[in-house]
Amino acid sequence: MTIMKVPKAILEKACRIEFLLLDVDGVMTDGMIYIDADGRETKAFNIYDGSGIHMLRKAGVRVGIITGRQSAIVDYRAQELGIAEVHQRVLDKIKVYDELLRKYDLQDFQMAYIGDDVIDLPILERAGLSVAVPNAHPDVKGRVDWVTQKAGGSGAVREVTDILLMARKPQRRS
Ligand SMILES: [Mg+2]
Repeated sequence: MTIMKVPKAILEKACRIEFLLLDVDGVMTDGMIYIDADGRETKAFNIYDGSGIHMLRKAGVRVGIITGRQSAIVDYRAQELGIAEVHQRVLDKIKVYDELLRKYDLQDFQMAYIGDDVIDLPILERAGLSVAVPNAHPDVKGRVDWVTQKAGGSGAVREVTDILLMARKPQRRS
């Protein structure tokens, strides 16, 4: 349960979100890619992000992944979390974003996106709730609705799923 203060304007945007789209490196991870002597990659994911994604999906919000890189680790983690929309090696992220809008009959105001780099800006400028992590590029952090308190890979995604779930609760006191 989150104890952070979330501005009303953010909750108003958050309560209309039907789809949470996530970047991977720097958002679901700390941005580090560990490569061993055989060239095999390893990334670390956050267990609390995972349970937040599960809870959000149970509440009826779709979750998708979009990344510029390609890794079997991402497919594995997405499968574990029940995320069907996994888009890897995407250089033109806004194209996939538009395809998702069409596929699920959604509009910008129903999309939330968490990003950390300039490649994410085209989506962040369109999405109804745009979020960056504190480790994001400065150009990105200055152009979003919300910068998470937790860093990528350290619970940033959970912070956003908590906000989305909090905003969806029908009667809020105060
Ligand atoms: Mg990234």
